[in-house]
Amino acid sequence: MDNNHLNGLLRPKSVAVVGASATPGKIGYTVIDNLLKGKYEGKIYPINPTATDILGLKVYPDIGAVPGTVDAAIITVPAKLVLEVAEECGKKGVKGLIVITSGFSEVGRKDLEDDLVKTANKYGTRVLGPNIVGTLSNSDHFNGSFAPGLPLEGKASLISQSGALLIALDAATYTRKVGFDKLVSIGNMSDVDFADIIEFLEEDDGTYCISLYIEGLKDGRRFIESARKAKKPVIALKAGVSAHGAAAAASHTGSLAGAAKVYGSAFKQAGVIQAADLNDLFNRTLALSLQPGMQGDNLLILTNGGGVGVLATDAAEKYGLPLKFAPAELQTEMKKHMPEFGSSKNPVDLTGMAGTEWYYDSVHYALTDKWVDGLVVLYCETAMTNPMEIAGAIKRADVEVGNGKPLCVSFVGGEKSDAAIAWLVENGIPAFNAPDLAVNAIAALREYAKIHQDGGTPRFIPNEKARKASLEVIAKARAEGRNALTEIEAKQVFNAYGLPVTVTSLAKSEDEAVKLAKEIGYPVVMKIVSPEILHKSDAGGVKVNVKDEAAVRDAFQTIMKNAKAYNADANIHGIAVQEMAPWGTEVILGSTSDPTFGPTIMFGLGGIFVEVLKDVTFRVTPVSEEHAAEMLDEIRGAPIIRGARGEAPRDRKALTRTIVAYANMILDLRDEVAESDANPVLVYEEGKGLKVVDARIILTKK
Ligand code: ADP
Ligand code: MG
Repeated sequence: MDNNHLNGLLRPKSVAVVGASATPGKIGYTVIDNLLKGKYEGKIYPINPTATDILGLKVYPDIGAVPGTVDAAIITVPAKLVLEVAEECGKKGVKGLIVITSGFSEVGRKDLEDDLVKTANKYGTRVLGPNIVGTLSNSDHFNGSFAPGLPLEGKASLISQSGALLIALDAATYTRKVGFDKLVSIGNMSDVDFADIIEFLEEDDGTYCISLYIEGLKDGRRFIESARKAKKPVIALKAGVSAHGAAAAASHTGSLAGAAKVYGSAFKQAGVIQAADLNDLFNRTLALSLQPGMQGDNLLILTNGGGVGVLATDAAEKYGLPLKFAPAELQTEMKKHMPEFGSSKNPVDLTGMAGTEWYYDSVHYALTDKWVDGLVVLYCETAMTNPMEIAGAIKRADVEVGNGKPLCVSFVGGEKSDAAIAWLVENGIPAFNAPDLAVNAIAALREYAKIHQDGGTPRFIPNEKARKASLEVIAKARAEGRNALTEIEAKQVFNAYGLPVTVTSLAKSEDEAVKLAKEIGYPVVMKIVSPEILHKSDAGGVKVNVKDEAAVRDAFQTIMKNAKAYNADANIHGIAVQEMAPWGTEVILGSTSDPTFGPTIMFGLGGIFVEVLKDVTFRVTPVSEEHAAEMLDEIRGAPIIRGARGEAPRDRKALTRTIVAYANMILDLRDEVAESDANPVLVYEEGKGLKVVDARIILTKK
């Protein structure tokens, strides 16, 4: 469905309330009351078969009886009547249904929900919900919800999957002084989902920052696509990241929450900034809706107190913007606005003697200086200074310089400081009551700019030839009733997609093994080949560094004996003889089919401790070179790849290219491959490449 109708749904010029009621306390009454209290300027048509007047408005018996056109219909009738109403609305040409009614997929009635969408979409009508609070827009004075009132005016828009939370946050906008233009309750996402609304808000004049509260996405890949295309900042709080939380979220709105790690990676790929918790969502939203992105890493901190300066310094490191010393020229200039005992390094400590003019001068200079990419100004309330005056000076300097560098502020103090904070926010400068919050806010602005600077565009390149070769291997395994490929087969698939695997051949007899070993060249590695033995070492099924004919014969017999002892019923294809790769750093590449995001790849330190250390990171396929390179730095073991303890750095280029190729392979074979891994991949020093020495593919169920 196209999104042309979303304007009618989220910014309607006329609205019908189906299930309108004259009884205070009923949702059908509250919605009408809210529309009136919000001073909605469009037409309001209450629909009720028996009433004639609701809050002074003329009532229509059904939607067909309404004289003019209707953009949106807010539906509050019981679930069993919703289908019929959807049909009537469709006939009337209503653009969107705001279905407040609950009792659909969240209570196991997915069938009802599917029918609702089918009925509406038949007429080109879009469905928001069901099971929602409604939708609100300050720009349109439109409170089409049963939330208490329009939020504090502002430049962000929030999409919330939780209705209760939306109501609570609506009220909190006033106490927290974070303003919103639109609040959209998205509920069961039967039709309109996050991706649709992100696309809508990207075009919406009233929205400068798109904030999301997510429990679980339905179509992860579409979400990534729409968020990546957005030029406006998109920030998300994902609930259900603990194992227990994930279960709670799933039962909550009837959607499945994907693995926390995969969500984190997908957000990065989508260019979505993450919020750690509700407070963080508010604080970062405030910064992102008021200030531009921070184009480089050079953060300067100005302060009048050493303590808050140190706290801010700690926070800078924590949030990924470690402080650097200010260049000499900048320091010289700063020295002019502080006493002898001040510090011009970074943080620049103006000392407790700093008054309004010093703040004005140093903020002015800092914003002008070409080294500075972003500025955090800290202030500790003192007996000699007036917080509101300091705030005024900061604002004045910012306006006068006016070069679009981001600025965040923290005032620590009492009522006067709080009033100054509120004033700054009203005047477009994010201000907070703790230094770490100001730093965190500017870190969000840095993340926003960074996300849009790199990341690259992932390209999926179908590979017809590789696919054909792979499908032949897969078909053979399926014909034998197997859903696991042997290492030899999996390597054939990997090889077809250009992954560097060790040359491997199957020996059915001892003599054959000897012949193959001679061809490959000593030393060789020998391994059991059996679809029933997937972890070959566990079965004593791997012999490395087999050096001559006698050793081959010995290894052949030992491996066979071990395998039979391990699993007497195992169907043994023979023994793989393969080239012995030189020692290298062991890493793992793998893939799974994520329920939300589809084919997803994993990278981490390999070897026997993978399961224990869980030092792995994910990306949804396809993967850009830039994101593949990022993966190498994300694991805790990153220093090992960079070359720890005197070892030469590993071949990052080869690793990056292999990750991209692996992702491409997994996406090309998405209908066939459920899970796979290359464990280990031996990575050599720079310029020397890597080798996949073990391969595994589990097929999809068909
Ligand atoms: P599995 O994981 O099924 O136990 P592998 O094929 O991964 O079996 O082999 C176990 C270990 O043997 C690997 O982790 C690796 O250290 C080593 N190894 C396997 N194949 C080779 C090879 N071709 N060259 C060098 N070392 C190898
Ligand atoms: Mg292995």
